[in-house]
Amino acid sequence: MAEAISHFINGHTAAGTGVRFGDVYDPATGTVTARVPLASADDVKQAVDAAAAAFPAWAATTPLNRARVMFRFKELLETQAGDLAKIITSEHGKVLSDARGEVTRGLEVVEFACGIPHLLKGEHSMNVGRDVDSWSEYAPLGVVAGITPFNFPAMVPLWMFPVALACGNTFVLKPSERDPSAALFMADLLKKAGLPDGVFNVVHGDKAAVDALLDEPRVQALSFVGSTPIAEYIYARGSANGKRVQALGGAKNHMVVLPDADLDGAVSALLGAGYGSAGERCMAISVAVCVGDATADALVATLAPKVAALKIGPGCLDPEMGPLVTGAHRDKVRGYVDAGVAEGASLVVDGRGHIVDGHAEGFFLGGCLFDRVTPEMTIYREEIFGPVLCVMRVPDLDAALRLVNEHEYGNGTAVFTRDGGAAREFAHRVQAGMVGINVPIPVPMAFHSFGGWKRSIFGPLHVHGPDGVRFYTRLKTITARWPETHAAEFVMPTMK
Ligand code: NAD
Repeated sequence: MAEAISHFINGHTAAGTGVRFGDVYDPATGTVTARVPLASADDVKQAVDAAAAAFPAWAATTPLNRARVMFRFKELLETQAGDLAKIITSEHGKVLSDARGEVTRGLEVVEFACGIPHLLKGEHSMNVGRDVDSWSEYAPLGVVAGITPFNFPAMVPLWMFPVALACGNTFVLKPSERDPSAALFMADLLKKAGLPDGVFNVVHGDKAAVDALLDEPRVQALSFVGSTPIAEYIYARGSANGKRVQALGGAKNHMVVLPDADLDGAVSALLGAGYGSAGERCMAISVAVCVGDATADALVATLAPKVAALKIGPGCLDPEMGPLVTGAHRDKVRGYVDAGVAEGASLVVDGRGHIVDGHAEGFFLGGCLFDRVTPEMTIYREEIFGPVLCVMRVPDLDAALRLVNEHEYGNGTAVFTRDGGAAREFAHRVQAGMVGINVPIPVPMAFHSFGGWKRSIFGPLHVHGPDGVRFYTRLKTITARWPETHAAEFVMPTMK
């Protein structure tokens, strides 16, 4: 029997109007394990009603007391990280140790949020004029919403709501309908941590729920993470409706390998960054750009047998790679592999026929490795979001930089080299938001901010870290004179 999943509104589970439902799968077996309600505009309104009603008291709660709720939430999340990881694996498919890693990276944002009172301090200037002082304050926005993707069902919501809540906002989360249970687990922990009812709400759903949030005048700000076409849509419609929007989109992350790089190190990095989480990471490396044919030949010869030998199986057994999230997504990725072959790339490792013993119905695909990929090919231009790595060959660092910089996406990138000067030049000239030097997945820590460039982001501010605090607060600057003056002034005030 498929489990019935609920929304979480005003501190309680809620069935909602219950007209439309989606299926949630165990990707390792291909079976439907749960039914998720797809919220109507009415369900979304109820969640926003709850968040709007809870806002005045939460905004008036001192920053220190809001942070104390975060401290308790952090403790609960730490002790129950294993259970949350199991939920992630059961609906997403990623291997258990990777799910644990996801929870840890999310926890780091909660740790950051515990210290947010420090970042809510404004600036103060005494005597901007005679007997006149001026200071700035950061105020919460009100009800804010997060719309999140399937690939990090715990970490990406955790990029958003701890920061938003610690800044004094109330929150409505619309997680991915493909793996909705992690959000509910965290909602329960927040309640146990003492968060007042209505401050954090979860509505499940698809486009209808998202559109209701986009058009809801009481939602002041929207954080979105997902694919680029939807990010662009959210940014355009949310901004047109007067909201503050940060919308993070898709990626095609290049790793440039220079001839002097430690080849074994580069191969290990590519194996983890290309095939970890079955390539379903926005920071996955999907293109290895080799400088020189000799570099490419050596790299492919070392990497190919390792890709062919990847241990693939159900995520709960913690192999190296699990299944893809749904059968539809697995078929889409396989379609890209077919397209790469048809367009003339050399398929060095073909994972299309991979069967996992006893799991023939699971959404598995073996690791695939293409060599001699060229810029006009579909497998290079588009985001595949699966265990498919493309090797490209360029003559020098300039050509590598040109390739990375001309791609429409600019999320993350990396260079592998022993030459400090080349690494420095790469880091400064490359057009991407996150750059690794001998680090394949340079995901910034919680106290820095995460975000890409170009069509990997819409909106000026990145998530969490200092940008996150700025996104979820608005600035007020106060200018005060004591004693008051009562003389009328008809000219533009100047400070004497
Ligand atoms: P997606 O864009 O399909 O879905 C993301 C969210 O948008 C979900 O909550 C979904 O319900 C909602 N949505 C889907 N279609 C919609 C529509 N037509 N109108 C309104 N809302 C809609 O993305 P996904 O498949 O869940 O996640 C994978 C994508 O997310 C990849 O492109 C990946 O690169 C990207 N991603 C980016 C980052 C980043 O930081 N830049 C991080 C993680 C994932």
